[in-house]
Amino acid sequence: MTQTGTEALLRSIPAMDELLNADWVPEFFGTLGREQVKSTIAGVLDDLRREIRGGEPPAAPVASIAAERAAALLRAKSASTFKPVVNATGVVIHTNLGRAPLAEGALAAAGAVSGTYSTLEYSPEKGGREVRNAHVEWALCRLTGAESALVVNNNAAAVLLALSATARGRELIVSAGELVEIGDSFRIPEILSFSGVDMRVVGCTNSTRIEDFSAAITENTAVLLKVHPSNYRIEGFVRSPSRKELAELASSRGLVLMEDLGSGLLCSLKAAFAHREHQVRDSVKAGCDIVTFSGDKLLGGPQIGVIAGSKPLLDRMKRHQLLRALRVDKMTLAAFDATLQLYLSGRQREIPVIRMIETDKSVLLEKARKLSRVLKRRAADLGASDITVSVVETEDAVGGGTFPADTLPGYGVSLRSASAGAEDVAAALRAAPVPVIPAVRDGCVVLHTRTLLAGDEKRIASALALYLASPSHFPGSDCRLDD
Ligand SMILES: *Cc1c(COP(=O)(O)O)cnc(C)c1O
Repeated sequence: MTQTGTEALLRSIPAMDELLNADWVPEFFGTLGREQVKSTIAGVLDDLRREIRGGEPPAAPVASIAAERAAALLRAKSASTFKPVVNATGVVIHTNLGRAPLAEGALAAAGAVSGTYSTLEYSPEKGGREVRNAHVEWALCRLTGAESALVVNNNAAAVLLALSATARGRELIVSAGELVEIGDSFRIPEILSFSGVDMRVVGCTNSTRIEDFSAAITENTAVLLKVHPSNYRIEGFVRSPSRKELAELASSRGLVLMEDLGSGLLCSLKAAFAHREHQVRDSVKAGCDIVTFSGDKLLGGPQIGVIAGSKPLLDRMKRHQLLRALRVDKMTLAAFDATLQLYLSGRQREIPVIRMIETDKSVLLEKARKLSRVLKRRAADLGASDITVSVVETEDAVGGGTFPADTLPGYGVSLRSASAGAEDVAAALRAAPVPVIPAVRDGCVVLHTRTLLAGDEKRIASALALYLASPSHFPGSDCRLDD
């Protein structure tokens, strides 16, 4: 570009005031505030100036590029990105989608103590301070059979606190088959090093014997650790010592047996593979001195971590300085308390996670037929003849690091477009105001019904209608068939 060309382009950059006075700008003053709007526009103008000076010729008139970029940025900044979605993936405990949806009672309880003052750390009886853990400890002890219990921010925090309080500066023994990584952020070896605990790994990936543990014990050993292999299953020749054997070894040598259970199952499940996941109380009964688990996996409550076990050990954790950094918020505590009440009163089928796992195939078939009818009607109303809607069998999953190799048989609705690929249709559904998150399988979009909540059918229908009514769903010559 010539010197004069560059100068001319720079001069054509609109002034701040010009943009601020555009008629589409004031709506953003209400959501973002005038200062944020100004600094966003200033950033856009700076970028343009830099690009022009750098010799990048703009592809359109500078003024319209400036307005377009500013509008897009302001729109993105003023819309909340944290919002409800429809989980049509069939994965019940979906970590990226917020794990367990809460039971109604839990939601109400969280709301009830959040807009007012509360007894979070106060006893009206004593007229003074009480610890927040007291609200849930009794229920946790009843439901797990443990002497004592403590709640923290999540299960990773539970493991960190439990180990810091029992084995800091000492050694822990763990089986090679249980050195797990969960998600991409929780690795047993790393948590151990944060806790200041040295790790001794014994046995092989598929086989560890009780003798491996006993031979590795030194005067510096404090803990024998068992970890739930949450997201994998080793098949074939597999051997590991039972909890009973480990408990006997630990108590005869004055050591602590700790189990990181991951998911905290508090009731029996009737799924065919339910025997692969045991209840928290079974670990306590088998002699584990400490068990840790999540509140938002199989338990079906909010994000929380529970440490349950022997009173002397729990007392040490309750006094530990680290607890202050890991403590639970009042909304979470209220929701958790209400979830535990549902278990105590035998109403655990009101917990969405439990209900979804237990939903019968026949019920899901009915749901799928109904959803298919609704979607077909919506497509017909819009005159969209290029979309095929059909009921299909699905393989659903519990998720959340439980039953990694098992699927739940279910039903869903598949969408096949004659003019767009499955990934494009899926992307369009995800772009709805309430994003619909489907599965994509064999070139089809599949909406699993197991994980749908009340009202989701309507949300899916609106998302589909929005897509079918948009011009983008006829990509013209660009069409591609997926079979
Ligand atoms: C899920 C899981 C964790 C992490 O729990 P968070 O509540 O997500 O912190 C730790 N250990 C095991 C075995 C798990 O399955």
